[in-house]
Amino acid sequence: MGDGEILKDTTRSTGRDALKKNVQAAIALAGAIRSTLGPKGLDKLLIDDDGRTLVTNDGVTVLETAKVEHPVAKMVIGASSLQDKIAKDGTTSTVILSSEMLRNAWELVVQGIHPAVIARGFRMAEQKIISEIEKYTTVGNEELFKQAAISALSGKGHESLKQTVSELSLIAGKYVMNKNRKMEKEKIKIISQTGSVVEDSEVVQGLVLAKKRIDLKMPKEIKDGKIILIDGGLERRSFSSDMKLNVTSPGILEQFRMKEREMLLTQVEHLKSLGVDVVACKEGIDDDVKNDLTKSGIQAFRRVAKSDLDLISMSCDATIVNDVLSAKKDSIGTCKSSVNEMLGGLEHWIITGNGCGATIIVRGSTVDIVGEVERCFDDCLGVVGQMYDDDRLLPGGGASYVALARCLRRYAETIPGREQLAVAAFADGLEVIVRVLAENGGLDPIESLLSVVAKQTSENSHNYGLNLFNGEVEDMVSNGVVEPLGIVRQAIIGATEASISILRIDDVLWAKQEVEIPELTE
Ligand code: ADP
Ligand code: MG
Repeated sequence: MGDGEILKDTTRSTGRDALKKNVQAAIALAGAIRSTLGPKGLDKLLIDDDGRTLVTNDGVTVLETAKVEHPVAKMVIGASSLQDKIAKDGTTSTVILSSEMLRNAWELVVQGIHPAVIARGFRMAEQKIISEIEKYTTVGNEELFKQAAISALSGKGHESLKQTVSELSLIAGKYVMNKNRKMEKEKIKIISQTGSVVEDSEVVQGLVLAKKRIDLKMPKEIKDGKIILIDGGLERRSFSSDMKLNVTSPGILEQFRMKEREMLLTQVEHLKSLGVDVVACKEGIDDDVKNDLTKSGIQAFRRVAKSDLDLISMSCDATIVNDVLSAKKDSIGTCKSSVNEMLGGLEHWIITGNGCGATIIVRGSTVDIVGEVERCFDDCLGVVGQMYDDDRLLPGGGASYVALARCLRRYAETIPGREQLAVAAFADGLEVIVRVLAENGGLDPIESLLSVVAKQTSENSHNYGLNLFNGEVEDMVSNGVVEPLGIVRQAIIGATEASISILRIDDVLWAKQEVEIPELTE
């Protein structure tokens, strides 16, 4: 049986043809988000199947929402999603870089260089960058961290929103710093309130829940108390519809209820014997139990979401229990304070433990605005986490990419083989960031790139980049356009990995039909 028969329902493209189509797909993908890059990038309006709309400037959000079918395009989106997961920023850059690397690789293939050689050259370039990139960094201080956080929000909102979000993110980050000085982002809770302005947003040390203690006669505030977290309730179970109860004598139902009540009160007794001051249940609490708890001076909250119980458990070092009666002393946590307070006109429960925890209360006039600000916080906290983890920053505005490209060109000259061409092509690829930033800022891309290169050479400094706010080539560390090392490094690594995997493909087998491939026009 020949190939033809086995692959009857399959369209096949091999070798150069396959590579060309794959490169086209990557370029088309980057083309879709190119215009969002940088502070002057524009927004995209996304409309899903149900007609819901979302306006965003975030590359990975656009790509993940768009229904992209091309498998190679999906590989590039994968690199961008990974970037989002690891570094929280630089997602657009990753896609633009990898498409440019592939475009340059394709030009070499046309000149007769084998893709495997190019892949090898790209790998050499990547290694060189990893060993060199740290030399271009500046150690950040409080002021630069704030600038970097603001830069990360470039294009995402007005000036005072960026100020508020970056300041609060830096404070929240400090609240959840563990002993190893690592920021535990998962311990930051974000809640939202509409009807006010973004500048009124605040950050509170501890966890804030929109909850009131179940009885106002319970203590409003407990200090240095013991807390139990119950993954269930302190209530009678309601009869389920398929449950059978054999009533053999009068009053048996009443007795059953009495027994249940007794059992519940035994549970309260057990809580008291453990010295519990605060009770938080995932489910309800019956009135009898409530009264008993109130009499004993215990503060109780019901219908606390499991995710909140998890956060409290981390912060107060408590184990969530399923069965109250089997709860032991070591399941009980300690809280520094547990208090009911008015925030923004609503009663809230604020709990602080010895383990860290923080809550950002996002305020804004409408649900849409609050949603957008929440996304800004999410991005900003990712960047702040990176900086607290590693305080080295790189100059933005394309400066570090140009500096790395210059370094790679010098390195390429030392390579005798054909890989030399691939390393040079990689260097050209890095420069795409400055070109696209300029393009989006209404400047001439080539001229801007050349001015940055010339300035870096004449001043012998890698800090010179393109400041889009005035169109000048400036020292980006002095003017505060900086970004964490981890973000740029990961963007380059992610883009290289995606490009190399695509270069290695020389045979594409499509089941049934071929997905439409856009023409290579650029
Ligand atoms: P990404 O999804 O890749 O993070 P962004 O749209 O956030 O894309 O743009 C990030 C790029 O914008 C970075 O290269 C950064 O250096 C650059 N940038 C930020 N602020 C400025 C500025 N004032 N001038 C020039 N470039 C800037
Ligand atoms: Mg960004």
